[in-house]
Amino acid sequence: MNAAVVSETAAAPSSERLRLTEIFLSLQGESDSIGWPTVFVRLTGCPLRCQYCDTAYAFHGGEWWTYESILAEVASHGARHVCVTGGEPLAQKRCIELLKRLCDAGYEVSLETSGAIDIGPVDPRVSRVLDIKTPDSKEAHRNLWSNLALLSARDQIKFVICSREDYEWSKAIVAEHGLTAVCAVMFSPSFHQIRPRDLADWIVADRLPVRFQLQLHKILWDDEPGR
Ligand code: SF4
Repeated sequence: MNAAVVSETAAAPSSERLRLTEIFLSLQGESDSIGWPTVFVRLTGCPLRCQYCDTAYAFHGGEWWTYESILAEVASHGARHVCVTGGEPLAQKRCIELLKRLCDAGYEVSLETSGAIDIGPVDPRVSRVLDIKTPDSKEAHRNLWSNLALLSARDQIKFVICSREDYEWSKAIVAEHGLTAVCAVMFSPSFHQIRPRDLADWIVADRLPVRFQLQLHKILWDDEPGR
């Protein structure tokens, strides 16, 4: 953040600020908008501790940014897609207003959320990518099941699969809640925990109507922060 933005942010009322770990331009590595040049706005903090978390550096620290300085930084990258992520972005209540302002500015906005916090207040123009935490994430008890009734066709559900047991559990959840009739459902292998081809083979063998996905940013850049 440059000096002018730092002093403007310090002077702003606290109701106008969010704590951010980073803003950067990259390719969207997953979900329906995979492959699009995308500006990522990573909010600091998460109340969960998934055992496979690859963004633990966003749990603490960060800097305060005003809505205006975030919008200006996003605009400076010149991309049409913006992804608000974390951490768990909805853990900061002002994320809701940020999402609205990004939509108002005309961006294609997506939100990556853990599924542990109510998505009801999120602007309907936002495409919500909602995790369902599996038993082997060690955070399945945090799933807020009432969120499922709020999803629409423009949203996506993501399972990160760590084991065959996780796969069977996820398959049962998809069937029990009729999730594939609601929106796209993605199954991803947990990096280094199961072989991606094993998960792919299970999905094909079961003719499961879900989309297998590998995280593009891990293949391209080995998950470096800021890529
Ligand atoms: S919800 Fe996301 S950011 Fe939070 S611990 Fe789990 S994987 Fe990490």
